[in-house]
Amino acid sequence: MGCPTFLAKHPAYLCYVREVASGELVMPEYERDEKNHVILQVGEQYCRYLGCTVSDHPYLTGNLRKHVGRHSEDVQVADGVTGLISFIEQEKVRAW
Ligand SMILES: [Zn+2]
Repeated sequence: MGCPTFLAKHPAYLCYVREVASGELVMPEYERDEKNHVILQVGEQYCRYLGCTVSDHPYLTGNLRKHVGRHSEDVQVADGVTGLISFIEQEKVRAW
């Protein structure tokens, strides 16, 4: 699996990988930073660009970064990444 090992055993992360692939978990659109760059999460594997035709295809984070950047000329990916786990957990809390 193309993710940091510390994530590979995390239940929320496994849930994310499985549920996005199956379509159960729909991730919200990308957040942008102050420069309007797209913010990717650590361990994020799926493209969230609206209308992406390969949004259920898993990428390594580095490849995802390149993939997302190719969607549009005005899409630039921010250098920093934040934690996916806390992000997933926030989303789950919101979903409840
Ligand atoms: Zn895409």
